[in-house]
Amino acid sequence: MATEREVGVGDFVLMDKIDLDSFMQNLEHRFKNGFIYTYIGEVCVSVNPYRTMNIYDKAHINKYKDRELFENVPHIFAVADASHKIMKQQGRDTCIVISGESGSGKTEASKIIMKYIAAVTNQGGQQEIERVKNILMQSNAILEAFGNAKTNRNDNSSRFGKYMDIHFDFKGDPIGGHINKYLLEKSRVILQQSGERNFHCFYQLLLGGADDLLRKLNLNRNPDSYFYINQGKSAKVDTINDKNDYKTVLNSLNALNFDSGEVESIWRVVAAIMHFGNVEFDVVDEEKLAVKRGNAVDHVATLLQVQKSELETALCERVIAARGDIMRKEHTETEASFGRDAFSKAIYERLFGWIVEKINAAIAIDANNYSKNYKSSLIGVLDIYGFEIFDNNSFEQFCINYCNEKLQQLFIELVLKQEQEEYMREGIAWTNIEYFNNQIICDLVEAPHKGILSIMDDACKMTAEKITDEMLLENMDRTLKGHHHFMSRQTKPSEKSLKHKVQFRITHYAGDVTYCIEGFLDKNKDTLFQDFKRLLYSSKDKNIRDMWPEGAQHITKTTKRPPTTGILFKNSMSALVQNLLSKEPHYVRCIKPNEIKSAAAFDEQRVRHQVSYLGLVENVRVRRAGFAYRQRYDKFLKRYKMLSQFTWPNFRGGSDQDGVKVIMDSNNFSNDVKYGKTKIFIKSPKTLFNLENQRNEL
Ligand code: ADP
Ligand code: MG
Repeated sequence: MATEREVGVGDFVLMDKIDLDSFMQNLEHRFKNGFIYTYIGEVCVSVNPYRTMNIYDKAHINKYKDRELFENVPHIFAVADASHKIMKQQGRDTCIVISGESGSGKTEASKIIMKYIAAVTNQGGQQEIERVKNILMQSNAILEAFGNAKTNRNDNSSRFGKYMDIHFDFKGDPIGGHINKYLLEKSRVILQQSGERNFHCFYQLLLGGADDLLRKLNLNRNPDSYFYINQGKSAKVDTINDKNDYKTVLNSLNALNFDSGEVESIWRVVAAIMHFGNVEFDVVDEEKLAVKRGNAVDHVATLLQVQKSELETALCERVIAARGDIMRKEHTETEASFGRDAFSKAIYERLFGWIVEKINAAIAIDANNYSKNYKSSLIGVLDIYGFEIFDNNSFEQFCINYCNEKLQQLFIELVLKQEQEEYMREGIAWTNIEYFNNQIICDLVEAPHKGILSIMDDACKMTAEKITDEMLLENMDRTLKGHHHFMSRQTKPSEKSLKHKVQFRITHYAGDVTYCIEGFLDKNKDTLFQDFKRLLYSSKDKNIRDMWPEGAQHITKTTKRPPTTGILFKNSMSALVQNLLSKEPHYVRCIKPNEIKSAAAFDEQRVRHQVSYLGLVENVRVRRAGFAYRQRYDKFLKRYKMLSQFTWPNFRGGSDQDGVKVIMDSNNFSNDVKYGKTKIFIKSPKTLFNLENQRNEL
C-alpha cells in the first residue's frame, strides 16, 4: 500500500499557531481531503465522514499494528493499538473514552475499535479465543436492536449508555468481557416525537418475523396498527433494512446461546408491548372503569402468560393496604392509562436488562479455562449518549447532559488538571493554561441537599401532600436562585423566552439547554404499581418471571420506597467515573460535521461550537507546553542504562538523575528534555522512539 500523504497537520500540537481559527482551518482542510482523524498528542479527534471510508481494511490494520502513534497517518486504529499495547506490555488496565454529541460517530468508533482488537489478536488461532471474539462482536447487533432507535439526529441512535470491559490473557488475547448499561430511555417505548421511531426491535419483528411467528403473536405486519410504535410517522427509514436486521439479530441471539424458548419469550414480550399500546379504557359508570372491548388485552395476557382477569384487575384498580386492611381502589381513567404505560416501560426495561445479563453470561470468562484467581488485564470502552439539545428537553435529556458534564469533568481532571499539577509538583517551569472547569455545573446537579437531583429526591419522598412538578420547580427556584448556571422565569423575570412555572434553563458547558419540568417527578419516581409486579411474578413463562427476580411482596408489607431514578443514575455515574479514573485513559473526541448527515458539508459554525465546548484548543495548549513522556529516574535508568558506557555494565556513580542525564546528553537529546524532581520529561515521542530502537539493536 502506498504511503498516504498527510494533508494539513496530523497533530494539532504541531501547528504553527494555536488558536481556534487555526484549529478550524486544519480540521476542515483535512476533513475535505478525506482525513477524518487528527491527534492532539494522544487524543484522537474524529469527524464523522457520513460515508463509507476504505480505511478500515486488512491492509490498514496491518499498517497500524504494533506501531507508534506518530509513525502513521492519524487513525483510530492507532489509539486502539496503543491501548492494547500498554495493557499487554505493562499489564495495566486501560480504557477508551469516546465522547461527542448524538450522531458524531461514537458507536461506530467503538465498533471500529472492537474490530481492530479482534483482528490483531489470537494469532495462534485458538478456538476458545475465536469463540470469545465472535460473541463480543455479535453482542452489538442485539444491543442495538433493543437499545437503539431512529431519532431526528441519528438513524441509529443509542438510547442507552454502554461501557464494555474486554478481558485479556497475558498474551493479549481476549478471553471474556462484561457490559454495563446505563439508563435506557424507556419513555420511548410509549412515546415518540414526530420523525422518530421506537426501538428497532419492534419494526424488525413486524417486517422480519416468519409468518407463523407473527400469527402466533397475533401481529399484522403494518407498524401503523400499533399506537406505541406509530406516533413518529416514520416507520420506514431509507438507511435501515429491518427485515435483514431481524435475521442478523436472530443469528446473534443463537450465537450467544439464547435457546429457542428464550428467543420466543423475547418476541412475546415485544409483541405484548405493541398490543398493550392499543388497550383503552371505558368509564362504565362513575365508580367503575373497564378495559374497552377489543382483543388487545387478551393478546397481552396470552403473550405474557398471565390470567386475563388478573391483568384487567391490575389495569383498572389497585390493591392498597391501610392499617392492616387490604382494600381495592378503582383507578381513574388517567391513572389506568398511566399504569398501562408505566407497565409497558417497565416490561421493556426488564427485558433489556435481562438480555444484557444473558449476554454477560455468554461472554463471561469461562471458569473451565481460567481459574477464579486468574489475573486478566482489561480494556474498557465507553460509548455513552452524547450531549443532547432537543426542541423539548425532559428528564432524560437532563440525565444525559449531566452524564456529559461528568465525562467532561473526567477529561479535565485527567488531561488538563493532572498534567498541570504534575509539572508544578516536579518544579518544571510552567505557565497555567486557563480553561473552563465545569465542576460548578456538576455541583448544580449533584451536590447533596442543594443540587437539583437532591431537591427532586426530596420532592419525591413527600407523601403527605400531593406535590406537583410546578411545586418542584418552585423549590428549585428557591434553592438555586442566584446560581450562575441555573435560570427560570422566577429567578430571572426578564427572561421572556422561558415559560413561567414550566421551564428552567441550565447553562451547560456545551451550551444552554431549556428543560420542561412537566413529567420530571413521575419519571424520577418511576412508580410501578405492585399489582403489576405480582402479576408478572405469576407468569407461566419462566423467562418472564426471571425478568422480575425480586419477586412479589406481600400486599400488607409496607414497601420501602425504592431509590429514585435520579439518585440511581447519580450513583452509577459516580461509580463509572471512579472506574475510569483507575485506568489509563485514551480519548476519542467525536465531532459532527453537519446536521444533514451529509458526506460533503462542513458546517463551520456547528463544528466551531463543538470544538469550543469540548475544550480542544485548551487541550492543544496544555499538550504543546507539555511532554509526551515522563518516567521516574530509577525506572528510566533501568530500561536504558545499556545505552551508555557511563551506566553500563557498571554505573560510574552519582544519582539516578545524573545517570539519566549522561545518557540523554550523549545522544544529543538535551534540548528535548526537562529534569523534574523525581522524573525525566521528554517532549517529543520521537526521542523515546529513538532510544527504544537503540535498545532493540543492541
Ligand atoms: P453516535 O453514537 O455518536 O450517536 P453513530 O456512531 O451512531 O453516532 O454514527 C451515526 C452515523 O454516522 C452512523 O450510523 C454512520 O452512518 C455514520 N458514521 C459514523 N462514523 C462513521 C465512520 N467512521 N465511517 C462511516 N460512517 C460513519
Ligand atoms: Mg451511539
